[in-house]
Amino acid sequence: MQDYELIDISIPISTKTACFPGDTPFSKETTVTLGKDNCFNLTKLTMSPHVGTHADAPAHVEGNLDSLTGTAGLMNLAPFIGPVTVIDLAPFDGEISLAVTKDKLDKANIERVLFRTAKSIRHEVFENNYSYLSVDLVQYLASKGTKLIGLDTPSVDHIQSKTLSVHHELIGAGMCWLENLDLTNVSEGNYFLIAPPLKFMELEASPVRAILLKQRGVK
Ligand SMILES: [Zn+2]
Repeated sequence: MQDYELIDISIPISTKTACFPGDTPFSKETTVTLGKDNCFNLTKLTMSPHVGTHADAPAHVEGNLDSLTGTAGLMNLAPFIGPVTVIDLAPFDGEISLAVTKDKLDKANIERVLFRTAKSIRHEVFENNYSYLSVDLVQYLASKGTKLIGLDTPSVDHIQSKTLSVHHELIGAGMCWLENLDLTNVSEGNYFLIAPPLKFMELEASPVRAILLKQRGVK
C-alpha cells in the first residue's frame, strides 16, 4: 500500500451535516453509558440514507419498497470498485451536459467518471443551486460503457425535477451513481475508486465511505 496515496472523498456525517430539505438529518441517542454499571458505550442512530456521501439504489425511484427489489443490499458491487477518472469542472453550477464535458471525456478512460463542480464543499449548508446531470450526457456515457458516475452535489437531477428523469435514465442503462462526494482535494486525473454501499436489504440507498487510491508518481 505504500505506493498508493489514499484520498478520502466522503463527507463527514454529524448532526451538523446538511441534507435535502425535508429529509431526515443525522441524529443519535446514547442508549448505554460507560460507567460503574456498564462496561461500554452504546448509541442508536437516525438518518436518511441520503445524508452524506451515498449511493442511490433503483428502489429510490421505482417499485414498491415492500417488495424488497432494487434495494441497496442487492446492488452489484463491481461498479463501485475500479479505475475512475475525475473530471474537474469547478467552479461550475447548472446542468452538466454532453456539450460541457465532451472534450474532456474524449480524452479520458470513462469506465467510471466523477465530476468535480465545487472548489470546496460546505458540509453544513444545503446548496440550492447545485449541479446535476443532463439526460443526454447519461445516454452518451451509457453508450460508451460507463458503469458509474459520481457528483459532488446532492442529486443527479435538478432540485425542482418532478420526474427525476436522470435517475430513471441511469437505472435504465444499468448504471450506478454516487452523490455528495467531496472532491475538494482531488485534481483531474486517473484514480482507483473504492466506494461500495452497505448491505441494507430494505433500504433505497446506502451511505458509502468513498476513497480514491492514487499511485504515487503516476499522473
Ligand atoms: Zn440520494
